[in-house]
Amino acid sequence: MNRMVPAVSADVPIVLVFSGHDPTGGAGLVADSEAIAACGGWAMTIPTALTVQNCRNVQAVAPVSGSQIRAMANALEDLPVAAIKVGLIASIDSLLAVMEIIRQRPGVPVIVDPVLKASGGAELSDAELVDTFCELLLPQVDIVTPNRYELARLAGPDSTDDTQRATALLHRGCQAVLVTGTDDPVPGVAVSHVMHTLHRPHGDRQWQWPRLAGSYHGSGCTLAAALAARLAIGEGVVSACEQAQAFTWQALKRGWQPGKDQYLPRRLWQLPNTSFTIPFTAV
Ligand code: PLP
Repeated sequence: MNRMVPAVSADVPIVLVFSGHDPTGGAGLVADSEAIAACGGWAMTIPTALTVQNCRNVQAVAPVSGSQIRAMANALEDLPVAAIKVGLIASIDSLLAVMEIIRQRPGVPVIVDPVLKASGGAELSDAELVDTFCELLLPQVDIVTPNRYELARLAGPDSTDDTQRATALLHRGCQAVLVTGTDDPVPGVAVSHVMHTLHRPHGDRQWQWPRLAGSYHGSGCTLAAALAARLAIGEGVVSACEQAQAFTWQALKRGWQPGKDQYLPRRLWQLPNTSFTIPFTAV
């Protein structure tokens, strides 16, 4: 029999994703799956929470229990995972389960997007969860991708600038911190641009991108998931950060507005817009 659709090659790197479900498809598991597929990986998705939301804001969050998370991960335990991406964690029970699963896969790069607050303003975390996250999860993380607000919350009140805050997170044991400056512009950077900074123990690296007009829902998930896929395909940290930013910028530039509220990134912009015909070979 002729194959109608090429088989997926055995070397598509798997990214194990722990994120919330966002019905708009702007953020969460859908965002992660699209970004990972577009960047050459295969997402295996374990929901950590269900959310009630639209393109304006998050209205409610229901965490998935740690035992359900463990069961879903255990069913995948014989599969080779090339990177782990963590997004919204909405309870300590889920956090402990995710940490346990990360520990069972030593050596796999772990990319964490600390989703503490929605861009629409809703709080998605609390002080106890933030403390537990810093104390227990950060030491297992290869790269964490906070925006400036999240960085300040994770680092606490003792640090006074972004470098000190990022250093505080590095001291907690994570290997790198990629701070995004879109939502809260970095002082001294022209308003026409956004600056993102990668902090590592042996030095920093910065990128500037032209600021896009509009407000977007799901940009942080897109960036962290693209970064996870690039690390999964074997790219180095600096190059993976740069490629993930370029991908995210392109997806945002092509973003669309389903109603009157935030724009959603179009991560699959390379797919045709109109209907297309799959070549078909009869048996
Ligand atoms: N809902 C879920 C499930 C998310 O993972 C996130 C962010 O990662 C959000 C909502 C908030 O997204 P944003 O801050 O981009 O609006």
